[in-house]
Amino acid sequence: MQGLAGTRRLIAVNGLDHFLPGRERSLSPTCGTWAPHRETIESGGSMLMHYRSFGNLDWKPSALGFGAMRLPVVGGDQARVDEAEAVRMIRHAIDRGVNYVDTAYTYHQGISESIVGRALRDGYRERVRLASKLPPWLLKSIGDCDRILGEQLQRLQTDHIDFYLMHGLNKDRWPVVRELKVLDWADKALADGRIHYLGFSFHDRLSMFEEILNAYPGWSFCQIQYNYVDDEFQAGMRGLRLAAGKGLGVVVMEPLRGGALASPPAQIQTILNASPHKAEPADRALQWVWNQPEVSLALSGMSSMEHVEQNLASAENSHVGALTEQDLALYANARVAYRGLRPIPCTDCQYCQPCPNNVDIPRVFETYNGGVMLGAQDRARFLYSLQKETDRANNCQECGECEEQCPQQIEIIQWLKKAHEYMK
Ligand code: SF4
Ligand code: SF4
Repeated sequence: MQGLAGTRRLIAVNGLDHFLPGRERSLSPTCGTWAPHRETIESGGSMLMHYRSFGNLDWKPSALGFGAMRLPVVGGDQARVDEAEAVRMIRHAIDRGVNYVDTAYTYHQGISESIVGRALRDGYRERVRLASKLPPWLLKSIGDCDRILGEQLQRLQTDHIDFYLMHGLNKDRWPVVRELKVLDWADKALADGRIHYLGFSFHDRLSMFEEILNAYPGWSFCQIQYNYVDDEFQAGMRGLRLAAGKGLGVVVMEPLRGGALASPPAQIQTILNASPHKAEPADRALQWVWNQPEVSLALSGMSSMEHVEQNLASAENSHVGALTEQDLALYANARVAYRGLRPIPCTDCQYCQPCPNNVDIPRVFETYNGGVMLGAQDRARFLYSLQKETDRANNCQECGECEEQCPQQIEIIQWLKKAHEYMK
């Protein structure tokens, strides 16, 4: 796919590639084996696209990837995508240099892949690398993997998926992958060429991320939720650096936290406005992600052509290491202010665990806090839906054991009720 460069003018920087000095200084010690970050810039029409590193792969992804999970819909119905507009948006992004398109078997109630497949006709498939995902929660037996992958290839109108992910791994889905030996199956799909690289997307704690990362030597990449508020949430910055240190490409999802960081509350906006550089909140959030060399690309779920244009313009301005100490201090202040909006002062110390009725109290509180803090109830509902039913707040039998253990003296039973009401 690097052949793409041949069709556009390489205007770059220091000849062919722009090597960013200081790259290695910014790495954590865990990243000692990592190759230096290299960035190229190419012209896509009147705009420029930056191309970054993708772990150990000899391929450069565009800084911006197209996520096909929030395509424009008709009447608010996720199963009724405005296909003509979606196709126009995807093709426009590719014409402007985007070379990574991400979808999944389940996005838009199963129709996203078919729409992406049609968007990539007329020569667009050859201009991108395509990512899609296997849903472990739909697997009843190992035979389901071949069936689902076959269906995906048909929907996507292609003979292979470049980047194939185990979708949304967490402590409930990872055992399914292990018990059904899905990774053995994936090895065969890699060998016969139906998929080219294997990775996983992730929603759980850092310890689970590390377990998955270390359990299988064949991961080429991973996809994590990451933004300037979530630098310690789920995999977080430590997970990002661990994965990059092992040579994996790291795809960032939710750089805008489901869009919430595009419209921060007034007190956060005031903090960010102290910057001498004027920028829209969404642009600021994206630049924080792109500033980090371990990030391979940021996926943005775009719902309108306006979003596409805004994100392309942001990508044009992206650089590794572009943010100053002063900029980073503003993000840190904004992060602290956001965290001050969390209603429950849970520190995730885990002293309340295990609950005799299996309630994953810290996880419920983290999801609820995130939703309230960012005014993102839908996002919180989605994350709560990923949690096993037996671990959810409504299983609390009010025995009170957890409250005795909590150093923050949180009224856990009452907050669990509130959280469940908010997210059910
Ligand atoms: S009060 Fe509820 S959440 Fe706490 S330990 Fe008892 S059952 Fe679990
Ligand atoms: S003991 Fe309290 S602070 Fe610690 S994880 Fe449980 S609820 Fe949160």
